[in-house]
Amino acid sequence: MKIGLYDVDSHNFPNLALMKISAYHKQHGDEVEMVLPLNRYDRIYASKVFGDEYTTVKNLCLQSDDVRLGGTGFAITVKDGKEVYTKTRDGDLPPEIEHIYPDYSLYPDLTKDTAYGFLTRGCPNNCGFCIVSKKEGLQSLKVADLSEFWRGQKYIKLLDANLLACRDRVELLQQLIDSGAKVDITQGLDARFITDEIAAMLVKIKTDCFHFAFDFMKNEKAIVKGLQTFKKVCTKHQSRLTVYMLTNYDTTIDEDLYRVKLIEKCGYTPDVRIYRKPTAPQILKDLQRWCNNRYIHGSCDFMDYVPRKRDGRTIKQIYFGG
Ligand code: SF4
Repeated sequence: MKIGLYDVDSHNFPNLALMKISAYHKQHGDEVEMVLPLNRYDRIYASKVFGDEYTTVKNLCLQSDDVRLGGTGFAITVKDGKEVYTKTRDGDLPPEIEHIYPDYSLYPDLTKDTAYGFLTRGCPNNCGFCIVSKKEGLQSLKVADLSEFWRGQKYIKLLDANLLACRDRVELLQQLIDSGAKVDITQGLDARFITDEIAAMLVKIKTDCFHFAFDFMKNEKAIVKGLQTFKKVCTKHQSRLTVYMLTNYDTTIDEDLYRVKLIEKCGYTPDVRIYRKPTAPQILKDLQRWCNNRYIHGSCDFMDYVPRKRDGRTIKQIYFGG
C-alpha cells in the first residue's frame, strides 16, 4: 500500500500519532511518506492537534478514497462559546499502533537525539478550560513504560498531562531517573501530589526547570504545601522554578495579585497566562507584561508600573484611582 501522512497543524513539534502510524505501516512493508499534493495514495492519515475552526477535511484536498482523520483538533467544536469534545470519525489509535516505537525518522530535525511520548493518559482535575479529562478520562493511568518510546536518546520530551496524579508515579519517576536523559516535562507538574518521597525523586531527574500550575484559589492550601515541600529539596534557582497561573477564568484581579506574591514568597517564578486573551480586560494584559518580563518585574511594584509611556500614568492611577 502507498500511505500518505498529513500533519495538518505542521507546527514546530512532531506529530506522535503520525510517527506511530508510519512505524506500523513500514513494519508491514508499506510505502510511507508525508503527503505530497499531486500524489495519489491508497490511504491517507490526517492528524490535527489543535482545534482551529478553519482546517476541515473538505479544504485539505487529499488524493485518496480512504482518508482517516485523527487527533484532538478534529474532535473539538465550539458550541455556545464552549469547546465540546466528540470522538473523531476514526477514533483513537488501535493498541497495535498506539504502543509501537515511533518512527522518529519522519521528523529528523525535530527528533534529533530526542524521544517523545506519554507514560500516562488522563487527569482527575477536569478543569473547565482543558480537554484532557473529557478526552482521556478522569484518572491518570499508566499507559506505557519509558522503553516504549525511548531507546537511549539524550533528551526526552514527556507529554503527560498529569504524571504525578498516576498511582504508578513512583515506578514511572524511577524510569525517568534511571534513563539519565535530560527530561523536558512539557505539561508541568501537579504540586498537590508532591510529598517528601516524590520531591526527592523529582530532583533526581535530569531537567533544566520545573513547572507547576496554580489556577484555582480553592486549591491554594494543597498547592502551597506541595511547592514548599519541593522547595525544601530542590536547589534550582528561582528562575528555573515556574508556576503558571491562569487569569481571566476563575479568579479576580485581587486574587491574581495575591497569587503572584504568594508564588514568589514560596520561592518560585509566577508566569501569568490569560484565558481568552483577545477579549480579556486590559489590566490582565498589563499584569502579564509586568509579571512575565523579568526586567520590568524586578524594577517596580505592579501598582507603580507605567504600562503605556505616552499615557504616563501608573497602574494605581489608571485602575485604582490612586
Ligand atoms: S490539571 Fe492540567 S491536564 Fe488536568 S484538567 Fe487541569 S489543565 Fe487539564
